[in-house]
Amino acid sequence: MSTTENLVEIRGLKVYFPVRAGILKRTVGVVKAVDGVDLDIRRGEILGLVGESGCGKTTVGRAILRLIPATAGTVRFDGKDLFALKPSELKPLRREMQLVFQDPYSSLDPRSKVGDIVGEGLRVHGVTDRQERHERVRKALEMVGLQEEHMRRFPHEFSGGQRQRIGIARALVLNPKFIVCDEPVSALDVSIQSQVLNLLKDLQQELDLTLLFIAHDMSVVEHLCDRVAVMYLGKIVEVAERDELFRNPQHPYTRALMSAIPVADPRAKRERIILQGDPPSPLRPPSGCRFHTRCPEAVEVCSQREPALVDLGRAHLCACHLRQPAEQVAQEAARASQ
Ligand code: SF4
Repeated sequence: MSTTENLVEIRGLKVYFPVRAGILKRTVGVVKAVDGVDLDIRRGEILGLVGESGCGKTTVGRAILRLIPATAGTVRFDGKDLFALKPSELKPLRREMQLVFQDPYSSLDPRSKVGDIVGEGLRVHGVTDRQERHERVRKALEMVGLQEEHMRRFPHEFSGGQRQRIGIARALVLNPKFIVCDEPVSALDVSIQSQVLNLLKDLQQELDLTLLFIAHDMSVVEHLCDRVAVMYLGKIVEVAERDELFRNPQHPYTRALMSAIPVADPRAKRERIILQGDPPSPLRPPSGCRFHTRCPEAVEVCSQREPALVDLGRAHLCACHLRQPAEQVAQEAARASQ
Protein backbone atom coordinates (compact mmCIF):
# COMPACT_ATOMS: atom_id res chain seq x y z
CA MET A 1 0.00 0.00 0.00
CA SER A 2 1.26 3.44 -0.89
CA THR A 3 2.17 5.89 1.89
CA THR A 4 3.49 9.43 1.61
CA GLU A 5 6.78 8.51 3.26
CA ASN A 6 9.59 8.59 0.70
CA LEU A 7 11.82 5.56 0.20
CA VAL A 8 13.93 7.31 -2.45
CA GLU A 9 14.69 11.05 -2.61
CA ILE A 10 16.53 12.39 -5.63
CA ARG A 11 17.84 15.95 -5.55
CA GLY A 12 19.65 17.84 -8.30
CA LEU A 13 20.70 14.62 -10.06
CA LYS A 14 22.96 15.20 -13.05
CA VAL A 15 24.58 12.55 -15.21
CA TYR A 16 26.86 13.87 -17.94
CA PHE A 17 28.85 11.76 -20.38
CA PRO A 18 31.95 13.23 -22.01
CA VAL A 19 32.20 12.93 -25.80
CA ARG A 20 35.76 12.18 -26.87
CA ALA A 21 37.29 12.41 -30.33
CA GLY A 22 40.64 12.27 -32.11
CA ILE A 23 43.73 10.16 -31.49
CA LEU A 24 44.24 11.73 -28.07
CA LYS A 25 40.60 11.18 -27.16
CA ARG A 26 40.13 14.78 -26.11
CA THR A 27 36.79 15.75 -24.65
CA VAL A 28 34.95 17.69 -27.34
CA GLY A 29 31.54 17.91 -25.72
CA VAL A 30 29.29 16.70 -22.94
CA VAL A 31 26.04 14.76 -23.29
CA LYS A 32 23.75 16.00 -20.53
CA ALA A 33 21.68 12.82 -20.24
CA VAL A 34 20.16 13.83 -16.89
CA ASP A 35 20.35 17.50 -16.04
CA GLY A 36 19.00 18.38 -12.61
CA VAL A 37 16.30 15.90 -11.63
CA ASP A 38 14.38 16.22 -8.34
CA LEU A 39 12.04 13.31 -7.67
CA ASP A 40 10.60 11.43 -4.68
CA ILE A 41 9.54 7.79 -4.78
CA ARG A 42 7.09 6.99 -1.99
CA ARG A 43 7.36 3.80 -0.01
CA GLY A 44 5.02 1.15 -1.44
CA GLU A 45 4.12 2.94 -4.66
CA ILE A 46 4.67 2.26 -8.34
CA LEU A 47 6.06 5.43 -9.87
CA GLY A 48 6.02 5.53 -13.67
CA LEU A 49 8.85 7.43 -15.38
CA VAL A 50 7.84 8.12 -18.96
CA GLY A 51 9.45 9.79 -21.96
CA GLU A 52 10.77 9.22 -25.47
CA SER A 53 13.90 7.17 -26.13
CA GLY A 54 16.98 9.14 -25.18
CA CYS A 55 15.25 11.41 -22.64
CA GLY A 56 17.43 10.08 -19.79
CA LYS A 57 14.90 7.90 -17.93
CA THR A 58 17.04 4.74 -18.04
CA THR A 59 20.05 6.78 -16.92
CA VAL A 60 18.07 8.04 -13.90
CA GLY A 61 17.19 4.44 -12.95
CA ARG A 62 20.78 3.27 -13.22
CA ALA A 63 22.22 6.28 -11.42
CA ILE A 64 19.84 5.65 -8.48
CA LEU A 65 21.20 2.10 -8.25
CA ARG A 66 24.76 3.46 -8.59
CA LEU A 67 25.31 1.33 -11.69
CA ILE A 68 26.62 4.45 -13.41
CA PRO A 69 28.29 7.38 -11.66
CA ALA A 70 26.38 10.61 -11.14
CA THR A 71 28.00 13.94 -12.03
CA ALA A 72 26.16 15.85 -9.29
CA GLY A 73 23.26 15.63 -6.88
CA THR A 74 22.19 13.24 -4.17
CA VAL A 75 20.07 10.11 -3.89
CA ARG A 76 18.81 9.12 -0.44
CA PHE A 77 17.56 5.55 -0.12
CA ASP A 78 15.75 4.71 3.09
CA GLY A 79 17.38 7.76 4.66
CA LYS A 80 20.94 6.94 3.53
CA ASP A 81 22.91 9.11 1.15
CA LEU A 82 23.86 6.50 -1.49
CA PHE A 83 26.54 8.58 -3.20
CA ALA A 84 28.38 9.11 0.09
CA LEU A 85 28.64 5.40 0.95
CA LYS A 86 31.83 3.39 0.63
CA PRO A 87 31.62 0.17 -1.46
CA SER A 88 31.60 -1.92 1.73
CA GLU A 89 28.66 0.12 3.07
CA LEU A 90 26.84 -0.03 -0.26
CA LYS A 91 26.96 -3.82 -0.65
CA PRO A 92 24.27 -4.70 1.93
CA LEU A 93 22.02 -2.02 0.42
CA ARG A 94 22.43 -3.50 -3.06
CA ARG A 95 20.34 -6.46 -1.90
CA GLU A 96 17.47 -4.08 -1.25
CA MET A 97 17.61 -2.38 -4.67
CA GLN A 98 17.24 -4.51 -7.76
CA LEU A 99 16.84 -4.03 -11.51
CA VAL A 100 14.64 -5.80 -14.06
CA PHE A 101 16.14 -5.32 -17.51
CA GLN A 102 14.39 -4.32 -20.70
CA ASP A 103 15.55 -7.16 -22.90
CA PRO A 104 14.81 -10.64 -21.52
CA TYR A 105 16.85 -12.16 -24.37
CA SER A 106 20.23 -10.51 -23.78
CA SER A 107 19.99 -10.08 -20.00
CA LEU A 108 20.11 -13.82 -19.21
CA ASP A 109 23.41 -15.69 -19.67
CA PRO A 110 22.61 -18.31 -22.36
CA ARG A 111 25.20 -20.76 -20.95
CA SER A 112 23.82 -20.79 -17.41
CA LYS A 113 20.87 -22.77 -16.11
CA VAL A 114 17.94 -20.82 -14.74
CA GLY A 115 18.65 -22.00 -11.18
CA ASP A 116 22.16 -20.53 -11.37
CA ILE A 117 20.96 -17.28 -13.00
CA VAL A 118 18.33 -16.64 -10.34
CA GLY A 119 20.61 -17.81 -7.52
CA GLU A 120 23.65 -15.76 -8.59
CA GLY A 121 22.71 -12.82 -6.33
CA LEU A 122 22.42 -15.12 -3.33
CA ARG A 123 25.95 -16.40 -3.95
CA VAL A 124 27.31 -12.87 -4.33
CA HIS A 125 25.64 -11.86 -1.07
CA GLY A 126 27.13 -14.74 0.90
CA VAL A 127 24.36 -17.35 1.00
CA THR A 128 26.74 -20.31 0.89
CA ASP A 129 24.32 -23.07 1.88
CA ARG A 130 23.27 -24.86 -1.34
CA GLN A 131 20.04 -26.14 0.12
CA GLU A 132 19.00 -22.68 1.26
CA ARG A 133 19.90 -21.22 -2.14
CA HIS A 134 17.88 -23.93 -3.88
CA GLU A 135 14.86 -23.29 -1.67
CA ARG A 136 14.97 -19.50 -2.14
CA VAL A 137 15.34 -19.86 -5.93
CA ARG A 138 12.44 -22.30 -6.02
CA LYS A 139 10.27 -19.85 -4.05
CA ALA A 140 11.23 -16.91 -6.29
CA LEU A 141 10.36 -18.92 -9.41
CA GLU A 142 7.07 -19.97 -7.85
CA MET A 143 6.21 -16.31 -7.17
CA VAL A 144 6.52 -15.53 -10.89
CA GLY A 145 4.55 -18.59 -12.00
CA LEU A 146 7.43 -20.97 -12.84
CA GLN A 147 8.20 -24.35 -11.32
CA GLU A 148 11.12 -26.06 -9.66
CA GLU A 149 11.82 -28.17 -12.76
CA HIS A 150 12.57 -24.95 -14.70
CA MET A 151 15.73 -24.48 -12.61
CA ARG A 152 17.50 -27.14 -14.69
CA ARG A 153 16.71 -25.57 -18.05
CA PHE A 154 18.55 -22.97 -20.15
CA PRO A 155 17.11 -19.55 -21.14
CA HIS A 156 16.69 -20.50 -24.83
CA GLU A 157 14.10 -23.09 -23.80
CA PHE A 158 11.71 -20.32 -22.69
CA SER A 159 9.47 -17.82 -24.46
CA GLY A 160 10.04 -14.04 -24.13
CA GLY A 161 7.38 -13.70 -21.42
CA GLN A 162 8.84 -16.60 -19.43
CA ARG A 163 12.33 -15.13 -19.73
CA GLN A 164 11.06 -11.87 -18.31
CA ARG A 165 9.53 -13.84 -15.43
CA ILE A 166 12.99 -15.33 -14.83
CA GLY A 167 14.42 -11.78 -14.80
CA ILE A 168 11.81 -10.76 -12.23
CA ALA A 169 12.56 -13.87 -10.10
CA ARG A 170 16.25 -12.91 -10.18
CA ALA A 171 15.33 -9.48 -8.81
CA LEU A 172 13.02 -10.92 -6.13
CA VAL A 173 15.28 -13.63 -4.77
CA LEU A 174 17.13 -11.21 -2.48
CA ASN A 175 13.90 -9.87 -0.92
CA PRO A 176 14.43 -6.30 -2.15
CA LYS A 177 12.48 -3.23 -1.03
CA PHE A 178 12.88 -1.36 -4.30
CA ILE A 179 13.01 -2.49 -7.93
CA VAL A 180 13.77 -0.41 -10.99
CA CYS A 181 11.85 -1.96 -13.90
CA ASP A 182 13.51 -0.66 -17.05
CA GLU A 183 10.93 -0.99 -19.84
CA PRO A 184 10.32 -4.62 -18.80
CA VAL A 185 7.57 -5.25 -21.35
CA SER A 186 8.68 -3.24 -24.38
CA ALA A 187 10.50 -6.23 -25.95
CA LEU A 188 7.48 -8.53 -25.48
CA ASP A 189 4.51 -9.25 -27.72
CA VAL A 190 1.47 -7.15 -26.86
CA SER A 191 -0.44 -10.31 -25.89
CA ILE A 192 2.19 -11.12 -23.25
CA GLN A 193 2.70 -7.58 -21.95
CA SER A 194 -0.45 -7.47 -19.84
CA GLN A 195 0.43 -10.80 -18.16
CA VAL A 196 3.81 -9.43 -17.07
CA LEU A 197 2.28 -6.10 -15.97
CA ASN A 198 -0.36 -7.92 -13.90
CA LEU A 199 2.35 -10.08 -12.37
CA LEU A 200 4.35 -7.00 -11.37
CA LYS A 201 1.27 -5.36 -9.86
CA ASP A 202 0.39 -8.50 -7.86
CA LEU A 203 3.95 -8.91 -6.60
CA GLN A 204 4.19 -5.25 -5.65
CA GLN A 205 1.06 -5.56 -3.52
CA GLU A 206 1.86 -8.95 -1.99
CA LEU A 207 5.45 -8.08 -1.11
CA ASP A 208 4.83 -4.36 -0.41
CA LEU A 209 7.50 -3.41 -2.94
CA THR A 210 8.33 0.04 -4.23
CA LEU A 211 8.79 0.15 -8.02
CA LEU A 212 10.20 2.69 -10.41
CA PHE A 213 8.62 1.66 -13.68
CA ILE A 214 10.34 3.12 -16.75
CA ALA A 215 8.34 3.22 -19.97
CA HIS A 216 8.20 5.12 -23.23
CA ASP A 217 4.47 5.18 -23.72
CA MET A 218 1.64 6.31 -21.52
CA SER A 219 -0.66 3.36 -22.19
CA VAL A 220 1.67 1.00 -20.30
CA VAL A 221 1.68 3.11 -17.13
CA GLU A 222 -2.02 4.01 -17.23
CA HIS A 223 -3.27 0.96 -15.35
CA LEU A 224 -0.14 0.03 -13.42
CA CYS A 225 1.26 3.12 -11.73
CA ASP A 226 0.13 5.11 -8.68
CA ARG A 227 1.93 8.27 -9.82
CA VAL A 228 3.60 9.25 -13.07
CA ALA A 229 6.61 11.49 -13.79
CA VAL A 230 7.17 12.69 -17.36
CA MET A 231 10.69 13.36 -18.57
CA TYR A 232 11.93 15.32 -21.57
CA LEU A 233 15.56 15.76 -22.59
CA GLY A 234 17.11 15.18 -19.18
CA LYS A 235 14.49 17.02 -17.09
CA ILE A 236 11.26 16.16 -15.29
CA VAL A 237 8.49 18.27 -16.83
CA GLU A 238 5.42 16.96 -14.98
CA VAL A 239 4.59 14.76 -11.97
CA ALA A 240 1.16 13.86 -10.58
CA GLU A 241 -0.99 11.09 -9.19
CA ARG A 242 -1.96 8.78 -12.04
CA ASP A 243 -5.68 9.70 -12.09
CA GLU A 244 -4.96 13.42 -11.80
CA LEU A 245 -2.43 13.28 -14.64
CA PHE A 246 -4.67 11.32 -17.00
CA ARG A 247 -7.70 13.50 -16.23
CA ASN A 248 -5.90 16.78 -16.27
CA PRO A 249 -2.52 16.73 -18.09
CA GLN A 250 -0.94 20.19 -18.03
CA HIS A 251 2.37 20.11 -19.86
CA PRO A 252 2.11 20.26 -23.66
CA TYR A 253 4.56 17.34 -23.94
CA THR A 254 2.46 15.16 -21.61
CA ARG A 255 -0.62 16.06 -23.66
CA ALA A 256 1.15 14.97 -26.83
CA LEU A 257 2.16 11.64 -25.26
CA MET A 258 -1.41 11.09 -24.05
CA SER A 259 -2.88 11.85 -27.43
CA ALA A 260 -0.96 8.86 -28.80
CA ILE A 261 -2.72 6.35 -26.49
CA PRO A 262 -4.97 4.12 -28.63
CA VAL A 263 -8.70 4.46 -27.86
CA ALA A 264 -10.57 1.14 -27.56
CA ASP A 265 -13.92 2.54 -28.77
CA PRO A 266 -13.74 3.20 -32.57
CA ARG A 267 -16.50 5.86 -32.26
CA ALA A 268 -14.55 7.80 -29.62
CA LYS A 269 -12.33 10.52 -31.04
CA ARG A 270 -9.14 11.83 -29.53
CA GLU A 271 -7.29 14.67 -31.17
CA ARG A 272 -3.80 13.43 -31.97
CA ILE A 273 -1.01 15.94 -31.30
CA ILE A 274 1.85 15.19 -33.67
CA LEU A 275 5.09 16.69 -32.44
CA GLN A 276 7.28 18.11 -35.18
CA GLY A 277 10.83 16.79 -35.56
CA ASP A 278 12.97 14.58 -33.40
CA PRO A 279 13.99 15.43 -29.83
CA PRO A 280 17.04 17.76 -29.90
CA SER A 281 20.42 16.32 -28.98
CA PRO A 282 21.27 16.33 -25.26
CA LEU A 283 24.73 17.40 -26.48
CA ARG A 284 23.29 20.82 -27.34
CA PRO A 285 19.96 21.19 -25.52
CA PRO A 286 17.85 24.22 -26.55
CA SER A 287 17.94 27.36 -24.40
CA GLY A 288 15.07 28.18 -22.02
CA CYS A 289 12.43 25.47 -22.01
CA ARG A 290 14.00 22.48 -23.73
CA PHE A 291 10.70 21.63 -25.33
CA HIS A 292 10.28 25.00 -27.09
CA THR A 293 11.58 23.77 -30.46
CA ARG A 294 8.67 21.29 -30.70
CA CYS A 295 6.03 22.82 -28.47
CA PRO A 296 2.75 23.74 -30.20
CA GLU A 297 2.07 26.40 -27.52
CA ALA A 298 5.52 28.05 -27.32
CA VAL A 299 5.67 31.82 -26.76
CA GLU A 300 8.62 34.21 -26.76
CA VAL A 301 9.70 33.69 -23.17
CA CYS A 302 9.98 29.93 -23.70
CA SER A 303 13.28 30.15 -25.58
CA GLN A 304 14.70 32.67 -23.08
CA ARG A 305 13.93 31.35 -19.63
CA GLU A 306 13.78 27.86 -18.23
CA PRO A 307 10.47 27.16 -16.45
CA ALA A 308 10.68 25.88 -12.87
CA LEU A 309 8.88 22.70 -11.79
CA VAL A 310 6.13 24.18 -9.61
CA ASP A 311 3.22 22.72 -7.64
CA LEU A 312 -0.09 23.58 -9.26
CA GLY A 313 -2.01 22.09 -6.29
CA ARG A 314 -3.00 18.51 -5.42
CA ALA A 315 0.73 17.58 -5.61
CA HIS A 316 0.61 18.15 -9.36
CA LEU A 317 3.98 19.54 -10.50
CA CYS A 318 4.55 21.06 -13.92
CA ALA A 319 7.41 22.94 -15.63
CA CYS A 320 5.76 25.24 -18.15
CA HIS A 321 5.61 29.06 -18.28
CA LEU A 322 1.98 28.97 -19.37
CA ARG A 323 0.84 26.90 -16.40
CA GLN A 324 2.58 28.71 -13.56
CA PRO A 325 0.39 30.09 -10.77
CA ALA A 326 -0.01 33.91 -10.84
CA GLU A 327 2.03 34.46 -7.65
CA GLN A 328 4.93 32.46 -9.12
CA VAL A 329 4.89 34.60 -12.28
CA ALA A 330 4.87 37.78 -10.15
CA GLN A 331 7.82 36.53 -8.06
CA GLU A 332 9.83 35.69 -11.17
CA ALA A 333 9.07 39.05 -12.75
CA ALA A 334 10.22 40.80 -9.54
CA ARG A 335 13.43 38.74 -9.53
CA ALA A 336 14.07 39.56 -13.19
CA SER A 337 13.65 43.32 -12.60
CA GLN A 338 16.14 43.44 -9.68
FE1 SF4 B 1 5.78 24.91 -24.34
FE2 SF4 B 1 6.73 27.18 -23.38
FE3 SF4 B 1 5.45 25.51 -21.78
FE4 SF4 B 1 7.87 24.92 -22.68
S1 SF4 B 1 7.35 26.60 -21.32
S2 SF4 B 1 6.15 23.57 -22.58
S3 SF4 B 1 7.78 25.77 -24.75
S4 SF4 B 1 4.59 26.61 -23.53
